[in-house]
Amino acid sequence: MKTMFIMVLAMFLAGVIGCCVVTVRKKSEYSAAILRLLAAGSVAMAAYLLFLLTENRTAAMFFDGLYFASIDWMLLCMLAFVLRYTNTRSYTKFIRNLFLLAVCIDTLVLLCNVGGEKMFTLERGIHAGTGMSYWSVSFGRPFYYHLGFCYGMASLALAILLAKLVKSSRRYRKMYLYTLIPFVVVLGLNAFCHTTKYPVDFSLLLYVLLAVSICYSSLYAVPRGLLEDTLISVVEDFSNGILCFDVRGKCIYANEKACELFGVEQGGDYAALEQYDKKWREDNCGDPAESREWEETYTTAGEERFYNVGYQQLKDERGDAFGYVFRLTDRTEAIRRFREEQYLATHDRLTGLYNREYFFQKAEQILRRKPDTERYMVCTNIRNFKLINDLFGEEMGDRVLVDQASLLKFSNYEDCIQGRIGADKFAMLVSKENFNPELAVKNTGKLQYLINDSNYKIQVSIGVYRIEDPNESPQVMYDRANMAIESPQGEYNKAVVYYDSRMLEQLMHEKSVVSEFEHALEEGQFQMYLQPLVGADGELKGAEALARWKHPAQGLIQPIDFISVVEKSGLIIRLDEYIWELAARKLRDWKERGLEELSISVNVSGKDFYYVDLYKTFTELAEKYGISPDRLNIEITETVLMTDLEMHLEVLSRLQEYGFCIEIDDFGSGYSSLNMLKDIRADVLKIDVLFLRETENKERSRVILSSVIDMAKRLGISVITEGVETKEQIQMLTDMGCEMFQGFYFSQPVPVEKFEEIYLSGRP
Ligand code: C2E
Ligand code: MG
Ligand code: MG
Repeated sequence: MKTMFIMVLAMFLAGVIGCCVVTVRKKSEYSAAILRLLAAGSVAMAAYLLFLLTENRTAAMFFDGLYFASIDWMLLCMLAFVLRYTNTRSYTKFIRNLFLLAVCIDTLVLLCNVGGEKMFTLERGIHAGTGMSYWSVSFGRPFYYHLGFCYGMASLALAILLAKLVKSSRRYRKMYLYTLIPFVVVLGLNAFCHTTKYPVDFSLLLYVLLAVSICYSSLYAVPRGLLEDTLISVVEDFSNGILCFDVRGKCIYANEKACELFGVEQGGDYAALEQYDKKWREDNCGDPAESREWEETYTTAGEERFYNVGYQQLKDERGDAFGYVFRLTDRTEAIRRFREEQYLATHDRLTGLYNREYFFQKAEQILRRKPDTERYMVCTNIRNFKLINDLFGEEMGDRVLVDQASLLKFSNYEDCIQGRIGADKFAMLVSKENFNPELAVKNTGKLQYLINDSNYKIQVSIGVYRIEDPNESPQVMYDRANMAIESPQGEYNKAVVYYDSRMLEQLMHEKSVVSEFEHALEEGQFQMYLQPLVGADGELKGAEALARWKHPAQGLIQPIDFISVVEKSGLIIRLDEYIWELAARKLRDWKERGLEELSISVNVSGKDFYYVDLYKTFTELAEKYGISPDRLNIEITETVLMTDLEMHLEVLSRLQEYGFCIEIDDFGSGYSSLNMLKDIRADVLKIDVLFLRETENKERSRVILSSVIDMAKRLGISVITEGVETKEQIQMLTDMGCEMFQGFYFSQPVPVEKFEEIYLSGRP
């Protein structure tokens, strides 16, 4: 029995030494404390082993004393370990030193017991129960102080462990139980051996188990368990799905997100997950790759979600696969945000159509992809869009734009795209076969319903460019379609205008006029020509001032080639003021020469009403040159008067009150000529004889012309017919009652010097 115990003890001793090796290797924060505990335990076991083996009483006394002392040290180390393990900080250095001192004194007393034998004595005896020869120990009173001290230390360690056990979370309890339970067993057994006076202390054997348990739990099981618990709770909370499989294709773990995604219950039947894995393998021919990534789309609760799926093989240190994992990263939000940003960067916020840059980019892609399809670049422009904003408010302006955009989408044909290029300018790339200009016009006409004002008509111009070279830049194509809108054809109410190359020439011409204008004005390249105004009696009554541009390179340029351009750009006000000044100066000149009865008519453009204070300008001119206002006549075309009549009337009547004569130019060329006469008290009507020439039924035209002349006279308005070229015309018009004429029959517009030379040379 004794021999067997000795052998077991020796084996356990070896076990403790093994634990020491493991502890040193593991390099944990508890390593030092565990090593000290193991060292104290080894000394205790060695001492106890030698005590059991020795026959010499003195040696047995010493080894038994050493054994009892090492129990002191063991418990002190246990206490130190427990304090560290439970992270108890109230154990100050002072208390530690106090314990250390007590243990040292106790050790000294126990080792010195060989001399005095006050603590315990030994006697050789035969154990009654087992018949075993052994050293029977009798304890003296002081020994019980030692025993009390030992149990005190053990109780303290136990109390600390118990307190921690109660307070800590469920996951941490295991950590303390692994230490607490063997410790209680060892202490219990030790108490049992003491009370029964059994020849051998079996608790020492269990001490080894305690050591192994502490090593295993504190160095391996608990950290790993905690790590697993922590990792699992982290992975559980992931917004990403995690699926772990073993090498046999069995799903061993799926976090909540993955279960939700595949509609399975966590911890339940994972057949659906295993099916997913199986199918993926089949699709990828059992893919042996170590890792892979791809995208997948799932529809959960009717919502489309995007996942980035990663597959990763799991390998051990030797490189052998022991499983694999699928990571499903939810990228829905990122993709949604990206799409949103992309949408905002490529679309117009108000109308939802492509924005300028993206439209051109898309158009280029389509044109390059299918260069053989015949296509049009179409551009639309809402005429006077600014006016809609001004008259009906910006909100209405926005509604018109939104409706215009949706009307543009009338065709959902393949490769037909629409974009908003500027404020009220839209563009569309469409194949020839799908472009229906009539429908486009009809659609744009629908915008009118938005505005509850029959006086205001929304007009949309459509410019079309036939794409001949698909490699041309879409921007250029658009510019050309737009050029068609801005060409004279487009301006005169034609709804659909096709681009032709002359428009480009026209544009170039317009640009050069605008760029040269200022310089030309400063240089005096603009001249005033005069065309005589002759009475029915053949007498000169006055003249009309007409501008001419004496271009140094191009020679004499007629108004038809520059007036509309400078009018469009607003430069006309500069030219008009210049001519008005020349006319006023000439009138002063004539007045000084005694030709006071002669008048000069000057042209006033529509733009002048908006940018010039006409009343101030004309009255100042009259005063500056000291001329009578009824000699400087003001010509306004009836088309100008037709828009914004009220504002015009106000200015004109003030001018009339001052004494100026108002002449309505080109009377009969507009549509509401007669109607207008109701409101405006003009002094003179200038009727173009073209009115006669262009009509097929001359007889009817004559009736109308003579009625107009008659009506004018009855209203107290003088009539001048311009454009007269023949004697017959003069005769006929005189018969009708017209008293004044202007036309090539008398003279073309001529430079002032020539005019004076012809008409005024005989005069004073
Ligand atoms: P308008 O004011 O109606 O001027 C009369 C035009 O008819 C002049 O053309 C004149 O040369 C032309 N004309 C006169 N008699 C005959 C004729 O017997 N047969 C034909 N075929 N034509 C005749 P012009 O000088 O080329 O001026 C054209 C238009 O340009 C003018 O029409 C006027 O609206 C505008 N314009 C000319 N100068 C100025 C200017 O200084 N300021 C403004 N705002 N407009 C001007
Ligand atoms: Mg005129
Ligand atoms: Mg005229």
